[in-house]
Amino acid sequence: MSNLKHVAVVGATGAVGVEMLRCLEQRGFPVGRLTLLASARSAGKKQTFKGEEVTIQELTADSFAGVDIALFSAGGGISRDFAPHAVKAGAVVVDNSSFFRMDPTVPLVVPEINAADVKNHQGIIANPNCTTAISLMALYPLHQAFGVRRIFASSYQAVSGTGAQAIEELAKQSREWASENRAWDAAKLASQPHVYPHQIAFNAIPHVDSFLDSGYTKEEMKMENEGRKIMHHPDFRASVTCVRIPVFRAHSIAISAEFEKPVDLAKAREVLAKAPGLDVIDDPASKHYPLALDIAGRDHCAVGRLRLDCALDNGLAFWVVGDQLLKGAALNAVQIAECLV
Ligand code: NAP
Repeated sequence: MSNLKHVAVVGATGAVGVEMLRCLEQRGFPVGRLTLLASARSAGKKQTFKGEEVTIQELTADSFAGVDIALFSAGGGISRDFAPHAVKAGAVVVDNSSFFRMDPTVPLVVPEINAADVKNHQGIIANPNCTTAISLMALYPLHQAFGVRRIFASSYQAVSGTGAQAIEELAKQSREWASENRAWDAAKLASQPHVYPHQIAFNAIPHVDSFLDSGYTKEEMKMENEGRKIMHHPDFRASVTCVRIPVFRAHSIAISAEFEKPVDLAKAREVLAKAPGLDVIDDPASKHYPLALDIAGRDHCAVGRLRLDCALDNGLAFWVVGDQLLKGAALNAVQIAECLV
């Protein structure tokens, strides 16, 4: 590969794709040529990169001639069908979908944790699930210090995690409630939801991704499965409840973690303060703790509400927040691409 790369973004018009362009630009990624790909619906539209307009093209099997790095963010089916074409054309694929994540030949990477795995790629590198990546930004440094055995966690996930249509659904429902001058206790709207199975405005939906026979959802099991692979920790266990809430941007996760070694609170703070890509915001007396509204748009994740868990031996409870469009998707993908150059 030469110094300047030909980069393709698949799903360039999506919630993640737009952030990918921003990350490439803001981080000064050595883009020599940029190809923007989306569905036929978007072909011919333009997006701006470094002050210049780039025309979006329809994704086809022939889209990847000369491409060095292809950032995929258009759903699992598109990755399944088109990533092999990109690899065949000589590109390295960084894939945001869940399709390749658990394939043993595909590295699954959070650069702050397992950047070294990138070199084992055979053409495709997977970007982890957003809730998992954000949780591990705090859990992994604690694991290195105390040896994590298992976690119990609940997520509070933003609608932008579902993409552009979900952002619009929350905005539309919020406007509907306000424009009808409804009372606080008349928050159930007449209009039917399209993206989520229930109204998301003024609600909390304990249903992210599809249900498995076990009663957990696929999203909930990603924490254990992907966490094992990223941390190289095959015995790691995670019981998770994922909840969609009416927040536009940034996921929050409440975690109770049990460790092999006794946990010392001061040492836990120390290792978290030194962890790359993570800020400690933990002064409850001054009402300082990580908030989705504050973390939205920021590269770093943040952890707070640190306390010894009162129901677990060797346990620590904490609250971690991250912008899932950035560390949970676009930023992490661009960081992986940076490992390649
Ligand atoms: P989104 O806002 O719905 O965007 C979807 C993108 O895929 C759009 O650019 C769309 O293009 C494109 N697309 C759809 N059908 C296509 C087709 N047949 N051919 C080519 N392009 C097509 O979704 P998103 O939130 O950005 O998510 C994209 C992917 O990233 C998904 O796999 C998702 O699971 C993953 N991811 C998302 C997040 C997040 O926080 N949102 C986090 C981690 C991973 P058009 O505009 O032309 O339809």
